[in-house]
Amino acid sequence: MPDPAATRWIVPGFVWLWALALISFSLFGARVARYIGVLRRARPEQRWDRLPRRLWLFAVNVLGQKRLFGETWIGAAHFLIFWSFVFYASSFFWNLLRGMAPILPVPYADEVGPMAFALEAAGVLGLAALAVAALRRYIFTPERLERSRDATLILVLISLVLLSSLAGSGFSALAHPRVWQPVGKAIAGLFASLGADAGHAGAGYLAMWWLHMVTVLGFLAYLPYSKHMHLLASTFGVFFAQLDEGVLPAGTEGASKLEEFTWRELFSGLACAECGRCDRACPAFLSGYPLSPKDLMHEVKLLVRGGGGDGAGLVGAAVKNETIWACVTCAACMERCPVFNEHVPLLVEMRRRLVANGEVDAQLQTALMNLGRYGNSFGQSPRNRTKWVPALGFKPKDARNEAVEYLWLTGDYAAYDPRVQPVTVAAGKVFERAGLNFGILYEAEQNSGNDARRAGEEGLFEVLRDKNLASLEKARFERIVTGDPHTYHALKNEYGRDGAVLHYSELLAQLIASGRLPVSQKLEAVVTYHDGCYLGRYNGVYDPPRRVIEALGARLLEMPRNRATAWCCGAGGGHIWMEDVPGIEERPAERRVREAAATGAAILAVGCPKDMVMFEDASKTAGLEGRLAVRDVMQLAEEATRSNGAN
Ligand code: SF4
Ligand code: SF4
Repeated sequence: MPDPAATRWIVPGFVWLWALALISFSLFGARVARYIGVLRRARPEQRWDRLPRRLWLFAVNVLGQKRLFGETWIGAAHFLIFWSFVFYASSFFWNLLRGMAPILPVPYADEVGPMAFALEAAGVLGLAALAVAALRRYIFTPERLERSRDATLILVLISLVLLSSLAGSGFSALAHPRVWQPVGKAIAGLFASLGADAGHAGAGYLAMWWLHMVTVLGFLAYLPYSKHMHLLASTFGVFFAQLDEGVLPAGTEGASKLEEFTWRELFSGLACAECGRCDRACPAFLSGYPLSPKDLMHEVKLLVRGGGGDGAGLVGAAVKNETIWACVTCAACMERCPVFNEHVPLLVEMRRRLVANGEVDAQLQTALMNLGRYGNSFGQSPRNRTKWVPALGFKPKDARNEAVEYLWLTGDYAAYDPRVQPVTVAAGKVFERAGLNFGILYEAEQNSGNDARRAGEEGLFEVLRDKNLASLEKARFERIVTGDPHTYHALKNEYGRDGAVLHYSELLAQLIASGRLPVSQKLEAVVTYHDGCYLGRYNGVYDPPRRVIEALGARLLEMPRNRATAWCCGAGGGHIWMEDVPGIEERPAERRVREAAATGAAILAVGCPKDMVMFEDASKTAGLEGRLAVRDVMQLAEEATRSNGAN
């Protein structure tokens, strides 16, 4: 085949290549440099730590595209498109270098047998995958996936890159059919049937070679100016992902303007593929609350693309206050996002700004004031924290005065809410039955601050944390156990202390497995289990509660959305304290109890006091009272380990 670089159209081919490459790389570089300049104006954030873990994340989620395999077909299509893209990019640079430097003593990529074969294979598989992607985008369009002109242009450009390469292979095979060109030979047959012969091969090959190179160079120049900057940015997004999942950045005054966000928060906008997966997982969006995590990322993208614009902030302008408050911090969006965008930290930063401005829902304001004044959101005296103790029938040890193995932190709802106090009593009985050496902090325990923090009250979180840490310092214990996943998350991940923290489902699983807590009467019940967000998604505790339920003799049925894809009850992020948004037809908790009832289970088991409160209310409003009982895993354990005659 003719050497493309040596072919002369008034000027030598390699000069054309130099000129085109210079234009393309200059346009690309100028725009990327501009983005880097914008990100450098943002707050710093350390994301170069723990390199081996970052590289592993990159390998699994960029090279392996793991998250996209949540939808098998789309995952497979995306995987093929990605790898075709990578393969063709490497062949492009090979050809570009060879073409720009004709003196190089190396062949072009498609002149090397194995490479030519691999290019054909990647081309065919890539085109098949593009067809699947196009069908999904234009025919079987899932909710919240856009059919934008930009997306169409990108699909056309990638197709053109692959088609021009395959057509070039066809012309090459027309003149000299080779064994490593099975696809090229088939295409050559097609060309021949259309009247082409070996005499057309050279010109045809040259035309396709240049079409291929010019398309890729054009693509490169266009990419950073298009909405599809994510094709480049997303790989970095995964590498710079948050490794301490669910942990919020330390205290700030909040953020609204470009300079007030961290560079990684802003980078989320550039990395966003606008695929809509976050919206399709978001309980706020799907229940009709005024929040679309995808649109949120779009606004961040516009902020970065505009370079901060006129200096105006996002809060209260492009992102409305009600949007910022609608989030229940369930992290379903973050779990699903293929580019590891971080919606929750971004929203909490904005909440911090609203809190600093005093723009807070009245009920939430009251709860936060109560937390500050009494250490609990109920506005009750700390002495009332142990009002459930008389029902227990004995007085738990005071871990401030005597050493215990397990320090039991109940959390607010389990201590003060009459609907949850029976669960707390059941836990005390079970601990006693298992012969556990445990104690509590009595009035010295304060709310962990987990939800205050997620409501944007960072200062209050710090106050509560410090008070709790001071109490823990005085107590003597070996490990902490709690039934409240919000307390669990804060203690385990955000208090900056070492030491074991267990959710009581983890402890129960150990006690039953070791024989310390024998099951005396098997539960003949059909149970479905709800994964609370702060236990499941935030901390990966999925198996222990299931192991407990099954060890108790119950039959466990799963809801369609379980484990990492579980649907939120709607209480998180301070929502349990907020006024409800009017006009919502079905609240997240109502949808969840219907989902639970649809499994055929008679019991919806939970492992979180807030779930208990939310689902008990929802089962009434959804008309499921009497059909679906809401029980904590601890209550089930208490029943099944009760000896005859005991209460
Ligand atoms: S934030 Fe993530 S999940 Fe949401 S649209 Fe963007 S890329 Fe998709
Ligand atoms: S954390 Fe939950 S409620 Fe908030 S945006 Fe993400 S999916 Fe929606």
